[in-house]
Amino acid sequence: MREFDIVIVGLGPTGGTLANLFAMHGFSILILDKEESFYPLPRAVHFDDEIMRVFQTIGITKNFLKYTIINKGTKFVNSNQKVILDWPRPKKITDNGWYPSYRFHQPDLEKQLRKRLKSYKKVLIEQNANVLKIKNSKNNVNIKYINSKSKKIFHIKSKYLVGCDGANSVTRRQMKTKMNNLGFTQKWAVVDLILKKNKKNLPDRTIQYSNPKQPATYCRNVGKRRRWEFAIKKNLSDKKVLSENYIWNFLKPWIKKSEAILERKTVYTFKSGMARKWRKGRIFIAGDAAHLMPPFMGQGMCAGIRDASNLAWKISLCLRVKHNEALLNSYQSERSLNVKEYIETTMRMGEFVNAVESIQITKNISSNDKGIKSMQSIKPKLGDGIGHVKDKNRGKVFPQFKLKKNKNLDDYFSKKGIIILSSEIRAKNIKNCSLLKVKNLKSISAYLKNINSKAILVRPDRFILGSANSNQEFNSILKKYSNILR
Ligand SMILES: Cc1cc2nc3c(=O)[nH]c(=O)nc-3n(C[C@H](O)[C@H](O)[C@H](O)COP(=O)(O)OP(=O)(O)OC[C@H]3O[C@@H](n4cnc5c(N)ncnc54)[C@H](O)[C@@H]3O)c2cc1C
Repeated sequence: MREFDIVIVGLGPTGGTLANLFAMHGFSILILDKEESFYPLPRAVHFDDEIMRVFQTIGITKNFLKYTIINKGTKFVNSNQKVILDWPRPKKITDNGWYPSYRFHQPDLEKQLRKRLKSYKKVLIEQNANVLKIKNSKNNVNIKYINSKSKKIFHIKSKYLVGCDGANSVTRRQMKTKMNNLGFTQKWAVVDLILKKNKKNLPDRTIQYSNPKQPATYCRNVGKRRRWEFAIKKNLSDKKVLSENYIWNFLKPWIKKSEAILERKTVYTFKSGMARKWRKGRIFIAGDAAHLMPPFMGQGMCAGIRDASNLAWKISLCLRVKHNEALLNSYQSERSLNVKEYIETTMRMGEFVNAVESIQITKNISSNDKGIKSMQSIKPKLGDGIGHVKDKNRGKVFPQFKLKKNKNLDDYFSKKGIIILSSEIRAKNIKNCSLLKVKNLKSISAYLKNINSKAILVRPDRFILGSANSNQEFNSILKKYSNILR
């Protein structure tokens, strides 16, 4: 029977990112996907700075960047075309070392993820591989799958398995856990167009049309791609809404049939939900398999990539050093709180687009200099997990500082945790961990001062694990956590 360190079920953006994060450690990985190839049509069109930082870690940004554009933000307008809320995304490098928001074409990302995976000798991708059964044993996971072309059945073993197999996850079913409905269910049509020529009168931001008669969204995507999404009224059939006549009639205020190619039209039921359990023994779920949200904030795929970033280093450590129950349990407790805030904010945004203007989308709304209400992006913290809850810095994103002219922090420590020390802390007994002394690094020294710390421990996924203000405090957190920073 073939055996692997890790089996990943599903090669969408979550599985592709997770596999790349594992592959960097040299593990033997089998990725099983039931389709013949990746999904060729557009779905996700937006991601943020935190996600670009993960792409940097796995080494795809150099090639992928040319397929992205910087997103300028979103405006919400009412039925009189008056701006009722602004959500700007200023073109300013964030703590993560990238711009706040990007637009892209999902198939371009999936190609880059696969190209990178093919550069690793111990990574195997099998398409047409439909996973049927998954079962925990004491130190392994047993997997049964069928090749849908040859009809041949395979039985394999793996030390860990992660189901990144989307909304209808077979892994979730095999774990016997349910997706809790968080309350948003709405049918929307999604229409993707490719302009024949540039059209200057189309907005270069996302516009949310908060119009009770016809809630809709316009997205300015990469190159000549543009997307419109609109809520489907209860009395209309999908067939009617997807007819060419209906679509071009809907698009009339913006564009004529002669001006663009209709690349895709489809109906989605936008849902919100969260699986009760994300782990059972050595089996995990991540991405849409673990949670669902409507796309108003463009955060569904981002949440899956955050899961991958959180889980990859924890399973890697178990494989490299020792199986660690507490560390693996922290995956759901840390991630679920963070994703819940995105789901709830997105649901409120959905209601706002449905023209329930009294809805307060986030607490971070103020009036801008033109008297228009303006919202800021949310940055939810991690839920409880590893690290001390009383440490105020635990769970904050550690910024990606510039260390040399063209080199940033993550370029040096891409897959490792880091111990960061000011000159006041004496470093004793630091073994097998990466160390950065900030004596001559003014920006990091100033940051440490600002968060009232003299030493911090940074996890491989770039969240702060713990901070200390004295030698004694530092030695205490080092003793507790050095085993997971290896
Ligand atoms: C209209 C729309 C717009 C969106 N816009 C955005 C956006 O702008 N930004 C954003 O962040 N998110 C967005 N999303 C959400 C985003 O597309 C999803 O969250 C994301 O694709 C989920 O990725 P995933 O890898 O978890 O799952 P998927 O992409 O669904 O991949 C699952 C994979 O598992 C495979 N699989 C399933 N079952 C099996 C099995 N039994 N055996 C083997 N393989 C299996 C499938 O073939 C598939 O390849 C949008 C979604 C929609 C519908």
